[in-house]
Amino acid sequence: MKKVLTRSLLTWFLALAFFAGLGYFVVRLVTNANEWAQLPMNAHLSANGLARAGAIYDRNGVILAESVEGERLYNEDERIRRAVLHSVGDDSTSIATSVQSMYRNELVGYSFLLGLGLPESFRSTEDITLTIDAEACAKVYDAMAANDYKGAAVVYNYKTGEIICKVSTPTYDPYSPPEIAEGDDTWEGVYLDKVISASYPPGSTFKLITAAAAIEMINDSPDRYLYCEGSSIIGGEYVTCVEPHNEIDMTMAMADSCNIYFAELAVELGAPTMESYAERFGFNQSFSMGNIDIKKSFYDVKKADDAGLAWSGVGQYTDMANPLHMAMICSAIANGGSPTMPYMIKDVSSIFNIGSLTAGKSGQSGRDMMKSSTANKLSDMMRTTVRDHYGDSTFGEFHVAAKTGTAEVGDGTEDGWVVGFVTDEDCPLAFAVCIENGGFGISSAVPIARTAIEASAPAVRGY
Ligand SMILES: [Zn+2]
Repeated sequence: MKKVLTRSLLTWFLALAFFAGLGYFVVRLVTNANEWAQLPMNAHLSANGLARAGAIYDRNGVILAESVEGERLYNEDERIRRAVLHSVGDDSTSIATSVQSMYRNELVGYSFLLGLGLPESFRSTEDITLTIDAEACAKVYDAMAANDYKGAAVVYNYKTGEIICKVSTPTYDPYSPPEIAEGDDTWEGVYLDKVISASYPPGSTFKLITAAAAIEMINDSPDRYLYCEGSSIIGGEYVTCVEPHNEIDMTMAMADSCNIYFAELAVELGAPTMESYAERFGFNQSFSMGNIDIKKSFYDVKKADDAGLAWSGVGQYTDMANPLHMAMICSAIANGGSPTMPYMIKDVSSIFNIGSLTAGKSGQSGRDMMKSSTANKLSDMMRTTVRDHYGDSTFGEFHVAAKTGTAEVGDGTEDGWVVGFVTDEDCPLAFAVCIENGGFGISSAVPIARTAIEASAPAVRGY
């Protein structure tokens, strides 16, 4: 009897030890997964790991990356390789938000429980199809490269959320990553996907938010006239316009991009109201696209005096905006107040993992950013800006509603912006373009936006 008891105790002890060990292993695996993945024996997860990884395709089945006989190959056209670099990634994980960094486990068929313990033939490497159109990206890259522009351009379908075109510059060929010498700023921001991970002073594009707050909070504000003499003291500081705009209502102030009109409105609305509207529009909020976090846009006037508040209402002061987020705001204006979440992973070959990989693939809109009547008013103002001020031919055959901006940056340079959407029923595209040091948005960002819209339209029209 005593012998049986001893054996039974021993069995229990062994079982306990086994589960404790297993538990320890699992905890270590979870907490140290990153370092673990960088060990030489786990090289499949890092540099050479892509030698037998799944392929990456654009929306039309164009191969962006594939592994052939142990080698990672990229699209044969160097323009496309450079244009989609920040979406696809290179052999390294330098571009943290690229598909080859974020979804490397899926591409190489790494199983969380089994590691690469399975024989190769049993491993399921996943192919990933993106929503982007490689040729559209290449056309926009060409246009940016021709002008030596640095910055970000994005176009997405505001009905479905599919990103059609996404370009970030400077960029490089994944076959020859740059060797960056210290102090060499030609490559500044090269590893950032600026569409996703950068933010810039929004300048006059922020007038959309100030306008929305005024439309909803101040009776008859869109019809109110103000006389702009080109310069005015607000909160003890001069706020100036490029030229005197004379007698203007809100629509004209939007089209002419009058600083004084919107600076006065921001002060009248007050800091708490401005901040709550900025937050309704997604400033200071986190958004993500699948596993990828989008850089937060920033608006904070808690410590601002009236002059600061005035400048914040025209997108200066400490305001910062992410390009993809600005495109989302335009999607909300186009959709009657409700934004569409953008996404870039169209499809994953395996039926497993779909849940986590395509989590961002909803196209579902979040909380309304504004009342639908406000969205319609903003839409009319943005449409008037293009039709009456720039002329419809600015965007070729497309009817576009847009707001440009020229944002002063701390270093004395000016970034050129344009954000907006196509109003044509059969072409639901929202866009944002920011050109660093581009000067006037109308001369730098707008031509790039036109190229991006023209290149992206066939994808949504289905031809
Ligand atoms: Zn003015």
